[in-house]
Amino acid sequence: MIKGPNLDDTIVALATAYGKGAIAVIRLSGTKAIEIVNSCFKGKDLSKVDSHTVHYGFLMDKESIVDEVMVSLFKAPKSYTTEDIIEVSCHGSTYLQDKIVQLFIKQGARMADRGEFTLRAFLNGRVDLSQAEAVGDLINAESEKAKQVALSQMRGGFSKQIKVLREKLIHFASMVELELDFGEEDVEFADRGALSALITELQTSIHGLLNSFKLGNVIKHGVPTVIVGRPNAGKSTLLNALLQEDRAIVSDIPGTTRDTIEEVLHLEGLSFRFIDTAGIRESEDVIESAGIERTREKIDQAHVVIYLFDASTLSKEDFEADLAKLKSYDKPYLVLANKTDISSPEWLSDQALLAISAKAAEGMDEIKSNLLQLMELNNIDNNAIIISNNRHFQSLSNSAQALQDVVNAIELSISGDLLALDIRRALHSLGEITGEITPDDLLGEIFSNFCI
Ligand code: GDP
Repeated sequence: MIKGPNLDDTIVALATAYGKGAIAVIRLSGTKAIEIVNSCFKGKDLSKVDSHTVHYGFLMDKESIVDEVMVSLFKAPKSYTTEDIIEVSCHGSTYLQDKIVQLFIKQGARMADRGEFTLRAFLNGRVDLSQAEAVGDLINAESEKAKQVALSQMRGGFSKQIKVLREKLIHFASMVELELDFGEEDVEFADRGALSALITELQTSIHGLLNSFKLGNVIKHGVPTVIVGRPNAGKSTLLNALLQEDRAIVSDIPGTTRDTIEEVLHLEGLSFRFIDTAGIRESEDVIESAGIERTREKIDQAHVVIYLFDASTLSKEDFEADLAKLKSYDKPYLVLANKTDISSPEWLSDQALLAISAKAAEGMDEIKSNLLQLMELNNIDNNAIIISNNRHFQSLSNSAQALQDVVNAIELSISGDLLALDIRRALHSLGEITGEITPDDLLGEIFSNFCI
């Protein structure tokens, strides 16, 4: 079991973001939460009120009023942490926020560690590990899709699927382990054919989840997008035109240098992050031979490539050479014929491309809808489980590997004890995702099924 900080303490922390606001919320969790707030609350006696109720009153520091507040009360076990929780909504000055937190600390609360409320929810068994992680993702979600993925994980869809997979496997593990107990006697409780069939089924599910990671990752972190093209094709003009209405959200991440300022385009619940825009601004030679290495590097980092060319000057032959290179990268791409306000050659009409004018900002809506289509979001069933967490990806990969070892072992008729080891490894990796304790529940299953 993961050892957390002392669960007997009553913890306190600011639940809203630090800074000035209309109101701020300070939250306490633990056995003394009600007593601590009650000791400095002028209003109803909080030890006597019902759970899930809100109360108006004053917070007092001895005889002086600290603030006029609303107190929400959630009694154990029906609360976020399963402990008594109190949320105090106070006026949102940073001075008051600090003062009230200090007041509660003086009354016996301890400052919570980062994420400790959610950690308690996990340690107290209200959520499993992957659900707890989803809370963090939800708080950090910056687009509609990212929110959807986090919310579905938090509600337990993913955990349920992992649980189902594990339970099926545990059954076989218990059979195989039982064979070991019989040692010399040549018994086979676990039908190898059925075990192979089950493993194929598990592998299909796991590979489905593993494949969803690529998408989950871009949903969570934004789609790395790159604009490539010859010098003066209009790359930086295009970037500006695309981001024009979106200027406000071009984020300047604190603590980073000018180079890493990210330019982000938010489209229907998905963000496209333009990478290496510094390179574009310098308008360097990216498609031509000297730039090929650099282009490859950029494209390697990207999920989607936008190729732009100057349709008023580029020859059909040069265009075709660029296009052939573009295709060789094997990434979803969009081809844009720029400067069609000047002229557009006849051969353009035979090509699968969008004719635009970056300077006149013409064709931006088409570009946006084509970018979204490239992501094939419409093909994703809304109920599909998408994984977006690195740790889950690792654990799933490990369990897929262990399952493959089981398959190989069965084919080679390897003895039960080695088989049992590989099955245990697969179970362990799956169990890591939800934070379950592997050996205990494996033993529990054996014991409950076979009291011999
Ligand atoms: P980059 O080197 O690919 O980043 O190209 P720039 O964005 O710096 O553009 C090069 C030149 O082409 C600039 O003078 C732009 O104003 C001009 N330009 C870009 N897009 C268009 C367009 O759609 N039509 C016209 N007529 N000029 C454009």
